[in-house]
Amino acid sequence: TNTTNTNFIKNIVIEDLNEGRVDTVVTRFPPEPNGYLHIGHAKSICLNFELADEFKGKTNLRFDDTNPAKEDEEFVRAIKEDVQWLGFEWDGLFFASDYFDYMYEKAQLLIRKGKAYVCQLNADQIREGRGTLTEPGKESPYRDRPAEESLDLFERMRKGEFKDGEMVLRAKINMASPNINLRDPVIYRISHAHHHRTGDAWCIYPMYAFAHPLEDAHEAVTHSICTLEFEDQRPLYDWIIQECETEHVPHQYEFAKLKLTDTIMGKRYLKQMVDEGVVDGWDDPRMPTVSGLRRRGFTPESIRNFCREIGVTKSDSTVDVKYLDHFIREDLKLKAPRTMGILKPLKVVITNYPEGQVEMLDAEINSENPEMGIRQIPFSREIYIEQDDFMENPPSKYFRLFPGNEVRLKHAYFIKCEEVVKDEAGRVIELRCTYDPETKSGSGFTGRKVKGTIHWVEATRAVPVEFRLYEPLVLPEQEEKEEGSTFLDRINPNSLEVLSGFVEENMKDAEGNDKFQFFRHGYFNVDPKASTKDHLVFNLTVSLKSSFDI
Ligand code: ATP
Ligand code: MG
Ligand code: MG
Repeated sequence: TNTTNTNFIKNIVIEDLNEGRVDTVVTRFPPEPNGYLHIGHAKSICLNFELADEFKGKTNLRFDDTNPAKEDEEFVRAIKEDVQWLGFEWDGLFFASDYFDYMYEKAQLLIRKGKAYVCQLNADQIREGRGTLTEPGKESPYRDRPAEESLDLFERMRKGEFKDGEMVLRAKINMASPNINLRDPVIYRISHAHHHRTGDAWCIYPMYAFAHPLEDAHEAVTHSICTLEFEDQRPLYDWIIQECETEHVPHQYEFAKLKLTDTIMGKRYLKQMVDEGVVDGWDDPRMPTVSGLRRRGFTPESIRNFCREIGVTKSDSTVDVKYLDHFIREDLKLKAPRTMGILKPLKVVITNYPEGQVEMLDAEINSENPEMGIRQIPFSREIYIEQDDFMENPPSKYFRLFPGNEVRLKHAYFIKCEEVVKDEAGRVIELRCTYDPETKSGSGFTGRKVKGTIHWVEATRAVPVEFRLYEPLVLPEQEEKEEGSTFLDRINPNSLEVLSGFVEENMKDAEGNDKFQFFRHGYFNVDPKASTKDHLVFNLTVSLKSSFDI
């Protein structure tokens, strides 16, 4: 891995190693299995795994599954697949639910030490009692109940004697603390919900703030990296580690979440789009999920390089989503075969080319990487070009085909438009052209020049395929929002365009996730899910930077 970039967390690690505070760096990536991973998670994955790799440490994949209601095995499977696809191998694979006994014991320890109590206020009363930034909280009437009584109630909570919400376990810290997180936070709640791994073994579940530090400690994590919104929770994290007397003492560090322009990222919203059928699943190529980006045609390298380059900071900022495109172009530039594809076909008949004859022409597979060699493409009397490469009444500076004009066919000959064939409605359905055999590509012809070069595909052997072109899933946020509007009102109705076109004959055996650069169009990925042997589907990954101006 490339590890030239430094960041403030890496500097902390270096110092900890140098000062002997840490022997082996242990990090973890702790997703909650309640959705698929998105590009923001990828940033956290890269940070945690690359940091440990660089210092010969370890990284665990830990499913933070302490919230039974929303979690699912499907998400566990998908998350593992995505982490591996990104190119990382975890050391330990853990489930926080495996530590339920450990957490329960630690909670009992707190009660015995007088550092936790069972509280019978309801959720609203607890919230009100918390106070505000300017007002201290109010102590719960249950705060000073004897430890024995709390221990007994806690045990009975576990046995299922009480209903959801009837009582909770709270840490006893400081109701007057300026940090509201320290005003006797709830650390266990009753939830008679079925858990995807522990089934009905438990009907009490630890709260995230209590569970997370204990999970870290249990795994001997040294650097627990999370996002900025947990900064105010750090004193609670440290309090729990100290009061629970854990063997290992992890430390929490916070960095800014990745945000992308014009991109909805939160799992909650992505889930809503999936559930409401706005998209075709979590791996819809328009989704900012790792699996969506994969289907779209992004490579692990491009995502890792992107995450590395945007860096790790302490302050929020938004990265232009186009910056991600730059990394896939860079990665595929020398790797992807070049080819020609027609998205919106217009038939061209070359009237002076012998009927029934097909010749094979040589074409470089990648002009920037000659080692990739040569492919052969057929040429004959009938070809397809793009509808957009012809205009009957062109403006000046239009150098593509129009009546009487001559252009170069990439890898082939010059052709000249002689006649326009229209249907009854006046639509152009065919062009009649002539070609000049002298002008064959590679022949060194210098007799005259043309200003336009267009792409084409030989018609009789072309492979009919489907192209899917994408635009952002959500439109930019309006300055003035309508009342009650949600992100669903920003869904772009034109985010997907489906076209029926043609590709070169040599692509007929292309397989899922094969990647190509289509001359003048951009990079496309063979959709691994929608394609079949007889029907290839090409997803536009990213257009070429220089668009159609030739
Ligand atoms: P979301 O807000 O999208 O629901 P989450 O933080 O709730 O995400 P988790 O499964 O809890 O999702 O996240 C796993 C890890 O990924 C956490 O350590 C979290 O901090 C990190 N993470 C989540 N979103 C981002 C992001 N946009 N940028 C960087 N790291 C992120
Ligand atoms: Mg979370
Ligand atoms: Mg979340």
